[in-house]
Amino acid sequence: MTRAELQVFELWGNANCYAVLMKIEQIELREIRMEMKHAFETSFGVTKERRIILVAVSSGGITGYGEVSCNETPGYSYETTETAWHILKDFIAPTVLGQVLEQPADYQALVKPLRGHPFAKAGLELAIWDWFAKAANAPLWKYIGGTKTELPVGLSVGIKKSPEALAEFVLEQQALGYQRIKLKIGRGRDLAYVAAARAALGEGMNLTVDANSDYTLEDTAMLKELDQYKLQYIEQPLENDDIIDHGTLAKSLSTPLCLDEPIHSASDVRRALQMGAAKVINLKIGRVGGHLEAHKIAAYCQANSVALWCGGMLESGVGRAHNVALQTLAAFNMASDTAPSARYWHEDIIEPEIIMENGITRPLEGIGIGVKLKHDLISKLTTRVLGF
Ligand SMILES: [Mg+2]
Repeated sequence: MTRAELQVFELWGNANCYAVLMKIEQIELREIRMEMKHAFETSFGVTKERRIILVAVSSGGITGYGEVSCNETPGYSYETTETAWHILKDFIAPTVLGQVLEQPADYQALVKPLRGHPFAKAGLELAIWDWFAKAANAPLWKYIGGTKTELPVGLSVGIKKSPEALAEFVLEQQALGYQRIKLKIGRGRDLAYVAAARAALGEGMNLTVDANSDYTLEDTAMLKELDQYKLQYIEQPLENDDIIDHGTLAKSLSTPLCLDEPIHSASDVRRALQMGAAKVINLKIGRVGGHLEAHKIAAYCQANSVALWCGGMLESGVGRAHNVALQTLAAFNMASDTAPSARYWHEDIIEPEIIMENGITRPLEGIGIGVKLKHDLISKLTTRVLGF
């Protein structure tokens, strides 16, 4: 199908709004390896190099791009770069190739019989949204109904070797303009670190912690001590698939809890609210299978006065551009983890790179995700390619 053969309908008398059919003609999976500028440590490990799957989908002369952003190891979730490659290659691509989509949401209906693996599913889903926005000649953020044009940027800070080293580091970062600093903490690397960071930053700075599930209810007394540091929230202190114990813990703390790992859908947010388990949600587009569910979660949070922000998975510029578009939805009301490209990479694979000015990043105005891919650089970083 050529671009000229695309069925284009003018809707509602609005010349800028078209419905376009997408026949999935080609899919490309490409693994790239990107060395990080600085190693990043969480409670489950250290990341020095990212293995990222770029997904390209083509139809009618238009190509959309997405990214699989899960980790290399099953630390954050059960998915890894390797499992995502397997699921995309052996199940998702054969299921959707040749299918015709009237809208991006049709993709989710096609892959619904494939249980789990949201990061793998999101890789192609993001590419399909980019394609539809490009076909509509619109920036993705406008295509999804975004309205915000100033997006506050927060920084996620990995575990440092000592409280003193952390204090020095966060002070440097505060000076760069970040509007919120989140400290990764872990068992035995918590209170002294948070105390040092709070003392260095002062009371006025938005400060949070993320434990990535390193504690249990038996640690309630220690977690309660965190109340004194006036944190904006405590993120995912308990088990990665738990909502009930978080509801119990929340009753003992004055600091709000934020859930990350166990939230895969708007229904999960509803259940978390019913349990009193969270007042804040960290939304990661890969963890929830893509834009469609992310938009449902955003709408649910907005309707129920739940605070919302967008987390990061150490994405390349492609995933980061999707995150920027997502945050333009009105539901996002806390600083998100979309730090500039230069914070993580010697050179990002997109142009223009994601930048931050005065603690703000802005939506990308080009069509689709709003960036061009640096194909020469991507070729050099590529370790394997598979076309369908
Ligand atoms: Mg987290």
